[in-house]
Amino acid sequence: MTDIHPAPTVKPENAFLLADGVHVIPDQGVPLVPNIGLIEGREAVLVVDCGMGPANGATVFDWAQGLARGRRILLALSHFHPEHAFGAQAFAGRAEIIVNTLQAEEAHDKAAAYLEMFKGFGPEVAAALERTVLTAPTQTYSNRLEIDLGGRVVTLQEVGPAHTRGDQIIWLENERILFAGDLAEEGMFPIFPWFPGQDTDLDGQRWQEVLTALEARGRMTLVPGHGRISDQGLLAVLAGYMQDMQGLCADPATELDIPAIERHFTGRHPDWQGKEWIGFAARHYKDVARSRP
Ligand SMILES: [Zn+2]
Repeated sequence: MTDIHPAPTVKPENAFLLADGVHVIPDQGVPLVPNIGLIEGREAVLVVDCGMGPANGATVFDWAQGLARGRRILLALSHFHPEHAFGAQAFAGRAEIIVNTLQAEEAHDKAAAYLEMFKGFGPEVAAALERTVLTAPTQTYSNRLEIDLGGRVVTLQEVGPAHTRGDQIIWLENERILFAGDLAEEGMFPIFPWFPGQDTDLDGQRWQEVLTALEARGRMTLVPGHGRISDQGLLAVLAGYMQDMQGLCADPATELDIPAIERHFTGRHPDWQGKEWIGFAARHYKDVARSRP
């Protein structure tokens, strides 16, 4: 978590059409840049995540406004993490900002601390976060919310705690497209934000259950929080990783051998980035195993 990162710049010039009226700005493999979505209906457009800091937020808002051509703009945040949510100030007063209740509470509790933590990730990230104004949602819901954009219904669903306390998915039933946020990462080890003393809201067991339940929906196009567009097969692979990790860390009496666990998983997934997250995941499952009565 102390690596020095390059500038986390969202680049709408790379946006492409995933389906009719469904756009994605890909992360291009840049750390701390998320995949960003835009779903068009006749009356409104819904943006999924907004990038980190005021400049990225403004870039995404301007891109959305250009596509919206006068239609209403809505913003849904997959979860509160800075690269997904800390550009929302650009939407304030100009768009409905919609999250689930758990996420709103979680952001209220933790966003300020995450802002400080992320400023420590190097000068480029700190610069991107300058003048960030933490921005509250304008609409919250519990469990699930269907939004009719005009001829197109989008379902927001509260599925946390998993990757965070307040994860929400964005699902297009007719098109079978899932915006999963960081419940799914492609080409990298899953991000386990397990920071004892600061943040222990993640729940690996439930996360795995959520992935399995989503995979059971069958054929879909999957937009992960980070990485390339994928399908439901990725959900099964990630659930398998968690199952395997939980098994390796299940005995509360043994000490963690993180280098051995890293060797095990980098052997299985030699092409995955983000190896540092293996240790965070191992400590999570071990801490949970030890906390059981
Ligand atoms: Zn995240």
